[in-house]
Amino acid sequence: MSNEITFDDIVAARKRIAAHIQPLRVTRSESLSGRFDCDIMLAHEYLQTTGAFKLRGAMNAVLQLPSGASGVTAVSTGNHGRALAYSARQAGVPCIICMSELVPQNKLEGIRALGAEARIVGKSQDEAEIEAKRLVKEEGYTMVPPFDHPHVIAGQGTLGLEMLQQVPDIDTVLVQLSGGGLISGIALALKAQHPDMRIIGVSMARGAAMAASQVAGKPVEVEELPTLADSLGGGIGLDNQYTFGMVRNYVDETLLLDEKEIADGIRHAYFSEQVIVEGGGAVGIAALLAGKAVPGAKTMVLLSGKNIDMQLHRKIINQEA
Ligand SMILES: *Cc1c(COP(=O)(O)O)cnc(C)c1O
Repeated sequence: MSNEITFDDIVAARKRIAAHIQPLRVTRSESLSGRFDCDIMLAHEYLQTTGAFKLRGAMNAVLQLPSGASGVTAVSTGNHGRALAYSARQAGVPCIICMSELVPQNKLEGIRALGAEARIVGKSQDEAEIEAKRLVKEEGYTMVPPFDHPHVIAGQGTLGLEMLQQVPDIDTVLVQLSGGGLISGIALALKAQHPDMRIIGVSMARGAAMAASQVAGKPVEVEELPTLADSLGGGIGLDNQYTFGMVRNYVDETLLLDEKEIADGIRHAYFSEQVIVEGGGAVGIAALLAGKAVPGAKTMVLLSGKNIDMQLHRKIINQEA
């Protein structure tokens, strides 16, 4: 199943979504390049509309909805949910984001502000999921999953095309790894053009489902634990169709970071790069600072999102968290 997505799908995705997304901005990090005595480039994708790269995949999926679809639905109130809500509004497609009563008010309002319906059902993610599945079955909605879907993976892969277009001689790329849609798309886009490209996936140690699944040789569940890299939480799906195989085929190394290392990454982004990123966004920088990722001569570090609670960010900056 893992070879169903091709380089051409990513090229097509880029054309399809181009008018709806912000192009990737890349700069050279003087502080990291100096420290490691090589070229370290930062890919500032937290500047993407809705604050994270997930718009690329969601938009690519929404723009390919089957004709006659009633709308789109998902169970995420995080970066994927926001991206899907925004994409649907752009495309003039109804969007229902299902969530439990326990979702914080600010997340709920964030989804509504993007023009989607926030449907509140039950007291758990599982109940919200049942409602989303009902919408698919009974009301003709299309579920857009956060990572394990060819259109989503191809959309995230457009980042790989843009990285290489901006810096043609990169040899190493550091990418966040959670469900694996992001790294699968990027790795395919890069390795199709440069088979020797080194792709390093970075996860938090607390609940790294993809890393545990790769070790086990099949998708496994791990306990979900609170982490500063909350956008990297969650499982990969026991019925994973695409990303488990793509990660196995394309990712060269996987690194795990503890919470202190992630906080150091957030602080470095702030104090040395003048950038506010969420924990998940900072793990590439954190992996370098911790000495866990060895950079190549020209390394691209993806900063994937900025959606962090600003009270928490302030505490981290002040060394209180
Ligand atoms: C979703 C997300 C990731 C991880 O992407 P996957 O495709 O699930 O691996 C990384 N960073 C941010 C900011 C995200 O929102």
